[in-house]
Amino acid sequence: MRVLLVTPEAYPLAKTGGLGDFSAGLIKALARLGVDARILMPAYPEALAQIRETAAIQDIIALPHGGLAALWYGAMPDSGLPLWLVDVPALFDRPGGLYQDLQGRDWADNGVRFGTLSYVGSELAQGFMRHEWVPDIVHLNDWQAAMTAVFLRLSGNAAPPTLFTIHNMAFQGLFPRETLEQLELPDRLFTPTEIEYYGNVSYLKAGLLYADRLVTVSPTYAREVLAAEFGFGFDGLLRERVPDLLGILNGIDDEVWDPSRDDLIVEPYDVDSLDKKRACKSNLRYIFNLDPDDDRPVISFVSRLTHQKMADVLEDLIPLLIDRGAQVTVVGRGEPEIQSKLITLQTRYAGSLGVEVGYNEELAHRAIAGSDMLLAPARFEPCGLTQMYAMRYGTLPIVTNVGGLAETVIDASPETVRHGTATGFLAQERSLEGLSWACLRALSYYTVPGAWRSIQRTAMASDFSWTRSARQYLTLYKTLVGGIGSPPMAD
Ligand code: ADP
Repeated sequence: MRVLLVTPEAYPLAKTGGLGDFSAGLIKALARLGVDARILMPAYPEALAQIRETAAIQDIIALPHGGLAALWYGAMPDSGLPLWLVDVPALFDRPGGLYQDLQGRDWADNGVRFGTLSYVGSELAQGFMRHEWVPDIVHLNDWQAAMTAVFLRLSGNAAPPTLFTIHNMAFQGLFPRETLEQLELPDRLFTPTEIEYYGNVSYLKAGLLYADRLVTVSPTYAREVLAAEFGFGFDGLLRERVPDLLGILNGIDDEVWDPSRDDLIVEPYDVDSLDKKRACKSNLRYIFNLDPDDDRPVISFVSRLTHQKMADVLEDLIPLLIDRGAQVTVVGRGEPEIQSKLITLQTRYAGSLGVEVGYNEELAHRAIAGSDMLLAPARFEPCGLTQMYAMRYGTLPIVTNVGGLAETVIDASPETVRHGTATGFLAQERSLEGLSWACLRALSYYTVPGAWRSIQRTAMASDFSWTRSARQYLTLYKTLVGGIGSPPMAD
């Protein structure tokens, strides 16, 4: 089975969030199942730098807008698995983020940038390259890869089936009508029954319409997106595609996120040496200049600072938590207003609050290892990975009862603690009140060491490894290759 995974991110080459972890974790797990899965992603400078030494340019491709793309073939730096990078310096070699400039504004040409990635994906899928490898399945991820399905369908050639994983319905890839012309796509696509969405082209809509199968990153989210609240305008379209829609819960990379062999933390530990977690906690306090008071619980927030992740609520929640004796650390970046409010708050609560505005992989590991609780709420959450990382590190998650969060965290109650099934704390309401209540419950369990240790043990024993999810993807690939009309499993 040959799978081409078209994606804008893959850890450690380039990552802004869970999609980067997903791409790397899935191909590793598929490789273990004997699947030849290869990533195709843009040659961002940081990605190219990590593979260039051992890679070679395998092809030069003429692009619809007149430019040329060099196709680098190389290996992932950690797993050694093969991949391609699409090198178009005018589109991908620039200072700033993957999608935004240094000021946090979306690159104006994102439509052409990721349309180009998708075009190259379609060329590879049709076997137009100078090498032998042709995929059996083309697996697309988010709006950045979605147009591959359109290019393939319009080519009129026999092409492998496509599967589209939706990592977040809120990211819709909206671009002006001219983008179609820039990609040499017909203007007739610009209608509401095609890929127009209220005056723009929507790449997300293109994926939802043109891919053969649709997957969301948790079964709960697959149900939620059928309603207006979570469908972000596409719930109607998704309801029409229910027979082709499936939820597969993401796994986590248990080599990268393993407290017993994590090089990024100061003291490795496991479920039998949980006392060593204290060294990680001291280190976290040291990094953030927090008062060295061993009795105080540390609650961390490691996430994008956005409305989705309820980061706007932190301003009111943090003082409350500190008032109840906790120390808090925040590692994140996102909406400028939230960032500046948190920085101001840090001055007021020096010794009790540490804030790092930015993207810092090492600090993310240290915060998750060094805290007692991870605050990982969301107003909507397709899957969420950090709550699963936290559980693996014996750091109990405090989350909202939505999407993948609801599916992965078992709320602590007298009953679940007694039965040894509790793994964290769920807020029923997605509001300041709901979250405060869940945090206060967590803080009160923290004062009962026996109960706390028991929840930690259960959390650390939870199995979120990729193997199960990769098997589900493999079953789906096989169904698609076999041309069977209905999805392989219902959730
Ligand atoms: P999403 O993809 O919606 O942002 P997930 O929980 O699925 O949320 O994945 C987030 C990933 O990004 C995790 O690996 C998390 O550790 C990482 N992450 C988020 N913010 C930061 C940050 N500021 N620094 C380092 N890693 C971060």
